[in-house]
Amino acid sequence: MSKITVFAEFTNGKIKSGTLELLTAAKAAGAEISAIAVGPGAKAIAKDLGTYGAKKVFVCENETLKDYNSEVFGNLVSGLIKKSGSTIVLASGTMLARDLFPRVATKLNAGMIGDCTGLKLSGGSVSVQRPLYSGKCTANVDFQNCDTQIVLMRANQLPIGSPDASLITEIVEESAPAADLKTIVKQVVKGASTKLDLTEANVIVSGGRGMKGAEHFKLLQDLADVLGATVGASRAVVDAGWVPHAMQVGQTGKTVAPSLYIACGISGAIQHLAGMSSSKVIVAINKDPEAPIFKKATYGIVGDAFEILPLLTQEFKKILQ
Ligand SMILES: Cc1cc2nc3c(=O)[nH]c(=O)nc-3n(C[C@H](O)[C@H](O)[C@H](O)COP(=O)(O)OP(=O)(O)OC[C@H]3O[C@@H](n4cnc5c(N)ncnc54)[C@H](O)[C@@H]3O)c2cc1C
Repeated sequence: MSKITVFAEFTNGKIKSGTLELLTAAKAAGAEISAIAVGPGAKAIAKDLGTYGAKKVFVCENETLKDYNSEVFGNLVSGLIKKSGSTIVLASGTMLARDLFPRVATKLNAGMIGDCTGLKLSGGSVSVQRPLYSGKCTANVDFQNCDTQIVLMRANQLPIGSPDASLITEIVEESAPAADLKTIVKQVVKGASTKLDLTEANVIVSGGRGMKGAEHFKLLQDLADVLGATVGASRAVVDAGWVPHAMQVGQTGKTVAPSLYIACGISGAIQHLAGMSSSKVIVAINKDPEAPIFKKATYGIVGDAFEILPLLTQEFKKILQ
């Protein structure tokens, strides 16, 4: 039986959906699963990880883990992976994981493949799919000559199974190893947003230069509020200073894969498409019928976003509220 470790991420006592996707995939493959949960609140979610199939959960809540530090996390997580005996490690490709796992891979002399959109687990081996050249083609990739295989998956690519409260899990409490640190995180200043991060959002309403000014993003926010969506943006509007970089979708912004992506006044440049083209349903609103975004869109609305957005908000309100 193959041994798989899933690196668990969580916020406010809730396991992130990307982690649940990976637990579900590992369980479906019949693997012996362990999970690693580190940072404040890790103990509280350990049992929940068990209900999704983790037989053993390593938890660590040291004070040193309060704010993410790649050295501290790198030492701890690579040690726990060794302890688990797993040869396959799965993590959701969040900003944290993308920073952490190259370090972990170096420590374990492991292979690592990031930004995966497809995952096949059979026996002790993994094959993945990942987009290349800003999504113009997809590569099938296998590991070679490495004992440990680390996969970072994009969120919203795999189904999530139901929890099973009858599953028994062993919770192992660990402490972070002392280290001679080269960097110390003094303070993390978090944004005020209470909205779901773009990378986890199931519905995204995004605006581009066609929105003509920061003040008109209210139209996008109104629709997002009705749909329970998060607002995103193209780089053109981030560069113009209308919205912060955290809202940027695309090659140099965030990669998203929601069930529904509504692009308003966005032309569909290849660098934007690179960040959102694996969305399940894409709706484009653009007054130019020749805009490239329509080639990617599932549904296209040719027209003025300033007229269409309030109408959509009004109609969805009738259905959803
Ligand atoms: C190295 C590099 C990295 C990049 N990374 C990114 C990235 O991560 N993300 C990203 O988005 N871009 C990125 N870009 C920039 C990218 O090439 C485009 O310039 C950018 O995406 C254009 O943004 P836009 O679609 O908002 O603006 P435009 O291309 O100017 O498009 C505006 C659209 O709005 C439409 N419009 C105008 N008025 C209305 C209206 N009233 N109603 C409806 N539609 C209207 C227009 O028809 C037009 O199609 C990158 C570029 C480079 C070179």
